[in-house]
Formats: sequence, structure tokens, C-alpha cells
Amino acid sequence: MAKGYSGVSLPFPTLAKEALKDTQLRNNLARATTTIRNKRANVVAEVADWEELRQAGHDIKMASLANLSTHLARFEAEFTAAGGHVHWARNSADACEIVAKIALENNIKDVVKVKSLTTDEINLNEFLAKKGIEAKETDLAELIVQLADEHPSHILVPAIHKNRDQIRDLFIEKIAEAPDGLTNNPRELAMTARAHLRRRFLSARMAVSGANFAIAESGTLCVVESEGNGRMCLTLPEILVSVVGIEKILPAWNDLEVFLQLLPRSSTGERMNPYTSFWTGKGDGPKSRHVILLDNGRVQTLADEHGREALACIRCSACMNVCPVYERTGGHSYNSVYPGPIGAIITPQLLGPGEAKTLPFASTLCGACYDVCPVKINIPKILVHLRAKENKANGKLAEKFAMRGAALALSPKGLQILGKVIGVISPILSSEIMQRISRVLPVAKKWSAFRDIPKTRLIRKGGRK
Ligand code: SF4
Repeated sequence: MAKGYSGVSLPFPTLAKEALKDTQLRNNLARATTTIRNKRANVVAEVADWEELRQAGHDIKMASLANLSTHLARFEAEFTAAGGHVHWARNSADACEIVAKIALENNIKDVVKVKSLTTDEINLNEFLAKKGIEAKETDLAELIVQLADEHPSHILVPAIHKNRDQIRDLFIEKIAEAPDGLTNNPRELAMTARAHLRRRFLSARMAVSGANFAIAESGTLCVVESEGNGRMCLTLPEILVSVVGIEKILPAWNDLEVFLQLLPRSSTGERMNPYTSFWTGKGDGPKSRHVILLDNGRVQTLADEHGREALACIRCSACMNVCPVYERTGGHSYNSVYPGPIGAIITPQLLGPGEAKTLPFASTLCGACYDVCPVKINIPKILVHLRAKENKANGKLAEKFAMRGAALALSPKGLQILGKVIGVISPILSSEIMQRISRVLPVAKKWSAFRDIPKTRLIRKGGRK
């Protein structure tokens, strides 16, 4: 099972400490996340029923996960009836083998790729390279990180850690088609990438993609994208192989109405995405269509009644754009395809017990991620659940009970109870005598050496006191 990008299990604190020294990285991240955050906030404010849409997205996803096996069986039957080939992969090794086998049986030595987190998750490019097959990324930002021999640091903007000057220098060094005197002008950079990729699109016989959604009732796959590179890959080659996580299933076409409103606004801050491609069966486009339905830890995640909500994620990236931890440490510190708040809850669950143990602790629990999530995943609650699980596994009882308490406080009822308890004990804690005691108690003196317990006013019915 994949252990993350570096191939070794370096913990988040070690990688974050290094990343924090990089001022250029922090500047790039702050500028980029602020821009996307503001764009998102503007287009979300235009939708009067945004909260109802979020709830609908959450409900559809959770209902779909509750009957996943039924919907998957329906998808398989429909996709097959339309002339496609369905493969099942338990893990990344199975999935990579299937892709390589299809390529080699057809004597194919290079493939073009649509941006796909699922293929990054299984380390497909590296696997294909070992088999003598070159996988060429065609999304502009994915191309940038591939040319730089790096990994994406954001699920929507993979090269968010690089600025335009760094990209210009990279293109001059790595792209033969780069014109003399290339500047950092975005149009010039895009035209250089375009010239580099065009020949590949026209000559490639096989493409590899993921999918944003898989519609069970018709056996249809859907990719949403902004650049048109996806449309080229999905239509021009003879063979199309799509690697799709089993949680991407939606029962019916009608469900898409909700997600095609939620996703572009939450990800790129657009009212709708420029390209939405669907493919089912015979007709135009690739003659041979394959889909690989991937587990790779999703079934074990589904078995956790508190953690399974993470599978509702539609990979919009809104949670990382508001996360104070992500903004300072960057995506590479998470050592996972899925960085930021979603990475902190999905990576440890996909990898299983004992892996990515520090990620659930890479959060201040401020709750900003929950507020922006278009499918209302309660990320802080899952973080607390995963922390408690980790502490239990390590026998850390005090932390375990603290996390249980925090989990309780994150529910509306728990918050109400906590408010009442604090109302009663805070006047006692903030009394002069308790302040003095806290300065000598070993358990409290580190904290109270620099701070007093705040004096709290009691709020009673009928007014403030
Ligand atoms: S957890 Fe929510 S906000 Fe974060 S990427 Fe997934 S859908 Fe988007």
C-alpha cells in the first residue's frame, strides 16, 4: 500500500518544520489561497439556497454510500451493456497492473493523462515508467510539477507552491518549444505548454483519466475541468482507461444537478466549469473504454461509522484554502496526495492503522473547513475521532478522554451542556484563590505562569450580570 509521496513515512511535524523555513513558499501560498478564497466567497454569496444545496449534497452522498454495493453493481451492468470493460482493483498494485496490461497488450509505450488524484494516489506514473511506458500529464499545473520532478501540493492547483518566475525558468530549462525571451506572462507560459502538448494529444493512442462522478443508472462517467486538455484526452485516443474510486458513485443523473452547482463554486470560484465531459458507451470517442473501480482502503473507511463521512468528499479543495495550518506549511508537509484538512482525515483512513498517525493532529480545530465544505463533512469531528483512536491505540488515556470531551463539545447538544458547565465553574476557576493555586500546581503552572484564567461573567435569563 502506498505510504505517501516520499516513499518513507516522514511525519507531518518534521516536514512542516522544514516547510516553515521557506518564506517564498509561504508567500506563494498566502497569495494563491487568498485569491481563490475571495473568488469562492463571492460566487457562493450569489446563491440564495446555498445552505440547502450543501445539505442536499451531503444527504445524496451519504445515502449513496449506505447502498454502495447496489449502486456499484448497477454501474457495472450498465457500463458493460454499453460496450465498456469494468475491472475491480483491491489496491494500488492491482490497479496499476491492469493499466499497464491494457497498454502493453496494445503495444502502447506512451499515454496522455487527464488530471487525476486517484492515479496519483496509486503512484501510477512511477509504476508505468518501470514498465517502459511514459505517462504525460496534460493539465498545465500537473505538467509543471511533472517537469519539475515534484509532486502536487494542492488538489486543485497542484503547482500552487510555485510562482510565475519559477515556472518560466522551469519551462526554459525543460521545454524544447519554449521561445527565446520567454517572460513570466501567463499567456506566454500557457502558449508554451500548449505547443509542447499539442503533438502528444494528436499522436497518443491511449489516455488515462479519473472521474469526478460515476452515474449508476446509466453507467456514465463524468469529468469536470477548466482547460480542455481533458476533453482532448477523453475523445481523441483509441483507448481510454479511467481509474475511479468506488465512492465516486451517484445513483442517478438528477443527483448531478446538485453537485454541478456545488463543485465549481467551491473549487475554482466559478459559476460553472468550462468543460464537463460525459461518456457511457458506443459512439464518438475512444473505441475501447475501460473503468477500474478502486477500493484501496475505501471499504475499511466505510466500515468506520464516524470516519466514513470523509468518503463524501468531492475534492473541491475549499477546506485547504481556508486552513491556517495548510496556508503556512503547504501541501508537501502532508506527504500525501490529499493534503490539508481533507488529507488529515482521509489519508490515515485509506492507509489504515499505524499509518499517517500525525495527520489528524495537524489542525487547530478552528472549524473553518467545516464551514466551507460544500457537502458538509464535519472535518473537526472526524479529526477528534481519529485522534482518540490513535491515542487509544497508543494507550494515551488522558488524551483519549480529552478527545472524547472535545467530540462531545462539537455537537450542538454538547456545546449547550459545556456552556452551562463553564458558566458554573468559571467564576470559581477565575477566583483569586484558584489563580494562586494554579501557579503552583505542576499540571497548570506552565500555562498560568504567563496567563490568568479569564474572569467570566455569568449570563442568566433576563439579561447579563
Ligand atoms: S472535504 Fe469538503 S471542502 Fe474539503 S475537498 Fe472535500 S468536499 Fe471540498
